[in-house]
Order: sequence, then structure tokens, then C-alpha cells
Amino acid sequence: MTLLKIARMGHPVLVRRADDIPDPTAREIRNLVENMVETMIDAQGVGLAAPQVHVSKRVIIFSSPEGRSDADSPKTDFSPLTALINPVIEILSEEQDLGWEGCLSIPGLSGAVPRYRHIRYKGFAPDGKAIDREATGFHARVVQHECDHLDGILYTMRMPDLSMLAFTDELRRHNLSGDGESDGDDDGDDGDDDGDDSEFE
Ligand SMILES: [Zn+2]
Repeated sequence: MTLLKIARMGHPVLVRRADDIPDPTAREIRNLVENMVETMIDAQGVGLAAPQVHVSKRVIIFSSPEGRSDADSPKTDFSPLTALINPVIEILSEEQDLGWEGCLSIPGLSGAVPRYRHIRYKGFAPDGKAIDREATGFHARVVQHECDHLDGILYTMRMPDLSMLAFTDELRRHNLSGDGESDGDDDGDDGDDDGDDSEFE
């Protein structure tokens, strides 16, 4: 496996529509997904889209671990590490929540972004199996963020109020941020601005 270089805002690959993948089970896609997983874990993100590693194809990876939300959160808030090829989102409720997001392609910054609260998504796993799930909470947020990357949309382009765009370490210093859904773990800033689990990406 290989660590891949992450494209930063300003690179053209981040603002174009990524190509559909004709064969989700192709070996090159499996290799890409393996390298994306390694790259995301190394960067301490919770999501990554192929255009962010300079590959303009419709594949994303993400997870929504338990522990981000309250214990009584619905099951649809959570997802194991998932690779999703040619994803399609269906909005199940017009309700939106404003939550803090970060992006590995926009390092050091966080912004408050409105996202749909309840969605359904479909696509394919690298073994060719169909995936069809409902998602709420952070799970819904991360999937919307990653799918946006496939259409050349960065979270900053979804922000209605740019006064809510900030350096993540300043937000922490002033106790304004966590990450959208439920953080609660950023009170004791350890001074390391790399380990921000709101940086999905
Ligand atoms: Zn991102």
C-alpha cells in the first residue's frame, strides 16, 4: 500500500466532476481504495474522496464511528469504514443542521455548513455488492461532504455565512468549535493541530 498525496484547494481536480466507474470490481479500483484508506488513516481523517488524491473517479471512503454521538443516538448515525463507488444520494427530509466541518484539502480551517439531516445513499462496494443505507447525523454529514467532492464542490462553497469560516486552532482556543454533531472531546487542547477528528475530509 502507498500513502497518496492530498490535493489542496486550488488544484483543478477538486472542482471538476469526477468520472463514473464502469467496473467497481476492477483491480485498479481495489488498489485505489486500499491506498485511500491508508492515506486517510495517516491523515487522521474520517472520510476521503478520490479527487482529493488526484484521481478523478467516483469513489469515496468514510466512517462514522460510535462514540462521536450520544449513546442513545439512532443506529443510522453510525457507519463502519465503507468504500462506496458511484454513490447516489436521496434526501429523505428537507430538514438541515448546521455543523462544523473540516477538510484535508483545506488544512487548518473549519467552517459551519448546513447539511440534510436524513438521507439514503446507494452505490457499490469494491467487491461488486450493492450498498443501500439510510444515514442520519454525522454519518449523513460525512457522506454528503464526500459526495460533494465528486461533483467538484468544497464545503466552503456550501457556507451561507463566511463569518463561520475559521482557523481550527482559533476555534478551539475560544471554545467555539467541535465538529458539527457532538464533539465534547476538544476541551483539553493538546496543542497538536493535526489530530483534529473533525477533519473529515
Ligand atoms: Zn473534504
